[in-house]
Amino acid sequence: MRRKIIAGNWKMNNTLPEATSLVEGILNGLEQSTNITNRDLLDIVLAPPYPYLNLCKDLIKGKQGIYIAAQNCYSEEKGAYTGEVSAAMISSIGAKYVIIGHSERRNYFRENSQMLMKKVDLALKNNLRPIFCIGELIHERQSERHFKVVRQQLADTVFLMKENDFRRIIIAYEPVWAIGTGLTATPEQAQEMHSFIRQLIGVKFGRKTINNISILYGGSCNAANAASLFAMPDVDGGLIGGASLKAGDFVSMIETLSNTNK
Ligand code: PEP
Repeated sequence: MRRKIIAGNWKMNNTLPEATSLVEGILNGLEQSTNITNRDLLDIVLAPPYPYLNLCKDLIKGKQGIYIAAQNCYSEEKGAYTGEVSAAMISSIGAKYVIIGHSERRNYFRENSQMLMKKVDLALKNNLRPIFCIGELIHERQSERHFKVVRQQLADTVFLMKENDFRRIIIAYEPVWAIGTGLTATPEQAQEMHSFIRQLIGVKFGRKTINNISILYGGSCNAANAASLFAMPDVDGGLIGGASLKAGDFVSMIETLSNTNK
């Protein structure tokens, strides 16, 4: 079954005291909320910077359906890679997810498909579920090549996997022009692309797999526009950047997602 998932990608934000108060704010907000339904169908994921993974893991201890993700992992198992962090390390502190292929990593750190797949492999070997990001650039959308680009991104990466491994992946469709820009995809644009991705999954892996893969939308999704995006039938949740740094907004988006019918 496709699960609803909302993941907060903090990126390189927050000091230790700020990180602590953000998690406490989210946990308090969830505790006080009277507007969350079917909590057991929804996974909440927090992706803080590496130094706070352990702290966040401790803060969420015993809380139902809340998990920790890393924002990245390195593409080698271990060794002389000063400054890097391995999938095994992330897993060993109790994280359950890792974001792989975020457009900021593809762009600023030149991460290519081959490197991303090494990360995916290592994540799975270490029992981490990859949240794998894909999405087109603004000029690719403007020249109406967005479907072609997304199809190729899948073909070059996660569509090379065995079906059983692929089923452990979460896809995040993040049009690059919408990330951190305030330019959100319309609900119709998001639905159209999510449905396209789902069809491709069906053709590649079959019907059973389609019904197991959650596809999240990311790109300037916030408390004001989440309802219309999450209402779309093929949008199973969100990968949230800026709006996940405000506890109240993030909790409101969790409430919104919990109340959608899928
Ligand atoms: C992201 O970083 O994945 C993201 C979607 O950022 P924002 O919500 O700020 O656009």
